[in-house]
Amino acid sequence: WTSGTATDAENSMRELAALAETAGSEVLDGVMQRRQKPDPGTFLGAGKADELRAIVAATEADTVICDGELSPSQRRGLEDIIKVKVIDRVALILDIFAQHAKSREGKAQVELAQLEYLLPRLRGWGDSMSRQAGGRVAGGAGIGSRGPGETKIELDRRRIRTRMAKLRREISGMKPARETMRSSRHRNAIPSVAIVGYTNAGKSSLLNYLTGAGVLVENALFATLDPTVRHALTPEGRSYTFTDTVGFVRHLPHQLVEAFRSTLEEAAEADVLLHVVDVSHPDPEGQLAAVRDVLADVDTSEIPEIVALNKADIADPFVVERLRQREKHAVVVSARTGHGLEELREVIAGLLPQPNVDIDVLLP
Ligand code: GDP
Repeated sequence: WTSGTATDAENSMRELAALAETAGSEVLDGVMQRRQKPDPGTFLGAGKADELRAIVAATEADTVICDGELSPSQRRGLEDIIKVKVIDRVALILDIFAQHAKSREGKAQVELAQLEYLLPRLRGWGDSMSRQAGGRVAGGAGIGSRGPGETKIELDRRRIRTRMAKLRREISGMKPARETMRSSRHRNAIPSVAIVGYTNAGKSSLLNYLTGAGVLVENALFATLDPTVRHALTPEGRSYTFTDTVGFVRHLPHQLVEAFRSTLEEAAEADVLLHVVDVSHPDPEGQLAAVRDVLADVDTSEIPEIVALNKADIADPFVVERLRQREKHAVVVSARTGHGLEELREVIAGLLPQPNVDIDVLLP
């Protein structure tokens, strides 16, 4: 179900499949359902759920991922019919963020988001009883609303809230450390490039190429940096770093906005932005604009931006050419065939800040 048009729904499903693959799943089949709003009991409605059960049985799938946010009762309702695990888009994205979070702050942000997602989903018997009775009505606590189920859940909730408060404190305490790390990077004059772009645009493929092409130098300084920072060399042999950001996704769950923003703050500190876009996507312009919209929030307007028009091997050449002409620093590439990758390395090298020249040396 989606609030947008049929094309929106298809794009969203395609992205969901890509996300599932990113999380390590094999995608077997897809089912779309058009309705005014999700069915409150089973999300899809009983008829479609039956159809899905048949597909699950035929493909021997072990999980169904719904493109939306399911309420606990929708998830249970659907699981009762199709007999395999059901998760929603939010849970899937949380899983990917958990896999990708490497820094201490990133991990804490993701755990916070996971707990925020979990909290309203803890439902006990007592809780649903009081809900059915229209909440706490006349006579105080309704029958059953103070049962052992409720007590246990209240306890779990309290534990989760305590943990969330602790994580929030930790996160705010980590900010200075991150800034020190950055300033040491700046003091040492190692220029940095941040990669941004949608999930599935080809960021990791390009990053692997660009960081694998140079000779790896073991350097004590790099060991102290965030492990998501990787090291690369320009064609002339100058060092620079790459910061990988978590990819953009459509309908980013609100629980993850902060975690996502903290990875983008890294981008705001970079000397160069490498914006990777999949030019074979039905709407590459829309993707470029959406990424820039979010980047505007962390203020990257002063940072030179290279647009890597990736997947040129399977894209419409007219679209590629249109974008190449429109963008200031555009490079047509294919991480698959290797096309344009040397040019990309050169364009990056050309936009990196020049090394600081020590004035003392110039004085006679
Ligand atoms: P990321 O999510 O942005 O890191 O994207 P990945 O690097 O994981 O790539 C997503 C998918 O696109 C993978 O299946 C890649 O093999 C594929 N891919 C990446 N670059 C290209 C390319 O230039 N051409 C084609 N045809 N496929 C590509």
